[in-house]
Amino acid sequence: KTFRTLNLGPEWVENLDQLGYEKMTAIQAEALPMMLEGADVLGHASTGTGKTAAFGLALLRNIKPGGARPGALVLCPTRELAAQVTDNLRALARPLANTNIVTLCGGHPFSRQRESLGHGVDVVVGTPGRVLDHLRRETLDLSELSTLVLDEADRMLDMGFVHDVSEVADFAPASRQTLFFSATLTDAVRELSEEFQNDAKFVSV
Ligand code: AMP
Repeated sequence: KTFRTLNLGPEWVENLDQLGYEKMTAIQAEALPMMLEGADVLGHASTGTGKTAAFGLALLRNIKPGGARPGALVLCPTRELAAQVTDNLRALARPLANTNIVTLCGGHPFSRQRESLGHGVDVVVGTPGRVLDHLRRETLDLSELSTLVLDEADRMLDMGFVHDVSEVADFAPASRQTLFFSATLTDAVRELSEEFQNDAKFVSV
């Protein structure tokens, strides 16, 4: 199936064409229609399946660019993944003017991140510990969040981030859309999904 079947609008399809995305991958074909309708999705998919573009398109469709507070937050287990996700989201966001995507990971100066956030932010991509730091110090405000994504949820749990992730989620409105992606579906991942998602639709590729 092509992206045209999703009714995204011509500017989105044209940008995807330019990125060399013509046909949807399996996870995109299965999950995107549900995610675009606002459903919570638990996606059983690993790296290389196109999961980033799947949740990326869903969250970008939900934000109003040029905002003071983020409309979407993507939590990643590592800095490397956060950097990759940020690059991919920037490319996908080209049809939207003035989308500010800020990466918040440890190992980078807190003060500079605070400064970027102060200039307005639409999407935050980060690791749980540093995102939580910003929330506790009130340099990040999730009160307008419409989409929360947990990328590689199994790895985040393996790395001991479960409490940080829970605390971050508590800062976001209950009415948000929550998307989970995980390469393996352990009991811990299912439990976290039960806790934070609402009637999640399960998709496996
Ligand atoms: P991911 O699984 O998100 O890490 O994506 C793996 C690779 O597939 C990335 O390089 C993406 O740019 C690329 N990709 C994602 N969706 C598509 C698509 N529909 N067609 C072609 N390439 C894609």
